[in-house]
Amino acid sequence: MALDKMDENDWKYHGEGNKSLVVSHVQHSRVLRLLKYPSEDAENTQRTTEQAFQHILNIVEYNRNVMKPLLGEKYVHSGEVVKLPLDFVRQLSLKVQQERPELRCDKVMDTFSGCGLCLPNLTHLSPCHFGDHRPPLCVEIKPKCGFLPFSRHVTKECKRKVCRFCMHQHFKLANGKWNRLSRYCPLDLFSGSKQRMFVAIKHLLEEPQNNLKIFKGGELIYSCKDDAKQQPDLNELVQHLWPYFHHSNGLYNGHQSSKAVFNEFIQVICGALLGSGDSSRSGEPRKVQLAESRSVCEASPLHRELLRSGNHGLPKDSVLAKILQVQMLDNLDIEGVYPLYKRVEQYLEEFPKERNRLQVDGPYDEGFLEKVKTCPSEDDGSIEYAVGKVLQYRVAMTAKDCSIMITFAPCGEDEKLQANLEIQPPKPRFTYSVSILDLDPKPYDSIPHQYKLDSKIVNYYLRSTTSAQD
Ligand code: ATP
Ligand code: MG
Ligand code: ZN
Ligand code: MG
Repeated sequence: MALDKMDENDWKYHGEGNKSLVVSHVQHSRVLRLLKYPSEDAENTQRTTEQAFQHILNIVEYNRNVMKPLLGEKYVHSGEVVKLPLDFVRQLSLKVQQERPELRCDKVMDTFSGCGLCLPNLTHLSPCHFGDHRPPLCVEIKPKCGFLPFSRHVTKECKRKVCRFCMHQHFKLANGKWNRLSRYCPLDLFSGSKQRMFVAIKHLLEEPQNNLKIFKGGELIYSCKDDAKQQPDLNELVQHLWPYFHHSNGLYNGHQSSKAVFNEFIQVICGALLGSGDSSRSGEPRKVQLAESRSVCEASPLHRELLRSGNHGLPKDSVLAKILQVQMLDNLDIEGVYPLYKRVEQYLEEFPKERNRLQVDGPYDEGFLEKVKTCPSEDDGSIEYAVGKVLQYRVAMTAKDCSIMITFAPCGEDEKLQANLEIQPPKPRFTYSVSILDLDPKPYDSIPHQYKLDSKIVNYYLRSTTSAQD
């Protein structure tokens, strides 16, 4: 990719989140991730090129030096900062504008700095996948927090019984963010029980919100509708899926088969989530397991019996185990972290020059990772303890907000023959690859906001559920 000869016609709109907009190359398997700003202050807070460059460099370094060692080499792609011609960025911004979903248009793409992040396109499979005419499928899941807080600092009993995602759903519904409650519960997905995971993924399919997207050949084919009142069309999805999952003996006809297609589709996703990153490696059998009290959410629609019996633990190497383990660096809960944040703030007021040494907001180098890893387990009253806990909390926040990309395609004919040598039912077999994306550092100064938001969500949940019982 020659950066001096960038042509907006080589790129197309791919997707966006709250912080960035992504375009994909029409030929090469690459994407560009560009920053976004709130549109009302695009004019006056436009960052200097230097600031934007530093911001993206921070993301890259945080990915490379912090998240990659914690989550595992094979899952994380740190990408590289690129300096793009301003003319290209402006043309690109005009070109993608009409494709953007309305609910994201409160922010505008950064067209001032010319800085972007270049990453492999994870909706594609690496070139070692040959031999099948069917384009790869990619399932993107934003799993959110997979455990109940266990900190003694938690003041509201309901936080120990109902998970954050399920409580937050009520708050989002009340604020008009979504029109329907999602029945997905992250604790089911992270349970390691095939039954509970199956139901969790089914609930994601029924109500994807921003927790599920499906791509085929790099194109988005299933996600929440721009008009939030509309439900996405599962029949349309099954039309896309059935060429991958139909049995050679069965023709696609109506309800019974669409159920079978979804069953197999979900099973492939579960397999990838419990495997060790790609189909060529065999899984690490050791399990990591949460105590039952931390892994069962009372708001999950699953039957109590199934919940209790279904805590099988996650294979140690699996993408879910890796993410959960980093999420659990938050072991004080925001209620325990907030007082430590205030301790750090007070200290920095007195000794502002210490900010860099303590690395409260970077640099994201080996020293940062060291502070995260070696934080004392008991509060000795020191500033080092307070900083260590704040950093651990920030890293955990990243892991609570990341996405998993599972990309898979049917094996080529040769491989299929080989696979049949093992004693396997004559089912289609898939090559797959699993990655983690959206691993941005969460700002140090968002901690007070997180503290307030937590109490708003919990109080709203308590009010709405107790009034429902009256
Ligand atoms: P959020 O609001 O979830 O924090 P964000 O603004 O930080 O999102 P990303 O999640 O990184 O942005 O990117 C937005 C979307 O672009 C993703 O949900 C994904 O669909 C797509 N995307 C991002 N990076 C890649 C990639 N490397 N390959 C393919 N698709 C990608
Ligand atoms: Mg995202
Ligand atoms: Zn839940
Ligand atoms: Mg993000």
